[in-house]
Amino acid sequence: MSVVGDNYLRVLANVERLCKESGRDPSECTLVAVSKTKPIELLKDAYEAGCRDFGENYVQELVDKIPQMPEDVRWHMIGHLQTNKVKYIVGKTYLIHSVDSVKLAAEIGKCSVKAGVVSDILLEVNVASEESKFGFDAVSVLEAVPEIAAIEGVRIRGLMTSAPICEDPEENRVFFQKLRQLSIDIKKQKTDNVYMDFLSMGMSGDYETAVCEGSGFVRVGTAIFGARDYSRV
Ligand SMILES: *Cc1c(COP(=O)(O)O)cnc(C)c1O
Repeated sequence: MSVVGDNYLRVLANVERLCKESGRDPSECTLVAVSKTKPIELLKDAYEAGCRDFGENYVQELVDKIPQMPEDVRWHMIGHLQTNKVKYIVGKTYLIHSVDSVKLAAEIGKCSVKAGVVSDILLEVNVASEESKFGFDAVSVLEAVPEIAAIEGVRIRGLMTSAPICEDPEENRVFFQKLRQLSIDIKKQKTDNVYMDFLSMGMSGDYETAVCEGSGFVRVGTAIFGARDYSRV
């Protein structure tokens, strides 16, 4: 087994154990291997170990990698997406996690209709109100949901957040709880075409806490592939 394969299996075992410990079925939480900046050989190592869900941040890199991997890979777009690049990825992703404006959702809808598909999306929420981060704030997402739900070609499946970088993952528990509460509030709005069935939260430093707080997708890069070297991209 490769180093990456070992890492993947170790993180997966943790996710499964924590699901069970918190009374959840392990099938409710998917481990997404975040492979941005990483060469295809390492993605193949993770694939060999059983990984089928890969997360990428950059459109060009995603588009380059898709044909180099087996067809049963489910690609997750998790990075900030510009409207003018949407056309390159629609129909190729399993889930777009990082929808941070009504305008972006409208463009995804337009391209999806054109391609004859419906795109599953998550709305990104900046729950910790960090200056540097994209995403709706907790108030504006409640207003955006009905607007986005009315857009043809997209289906809101849930919410996503990136919690702050932290020393102690316990510090982020409150943000994961906030995202979960927000999804409950949105469910209560009972808007047609809105399915709040997934929360995408938890990264290498805090995924264990996120699993216990109900995450449906943990997005783990460094703990599987090692530190990133951004000079490659
Ligand atoms: C890079 C990235 C991750 C993975 O981060 P790690 O700390 O390496 O696990 C998860 N989510 C998003 C949105 C990212 O950009």
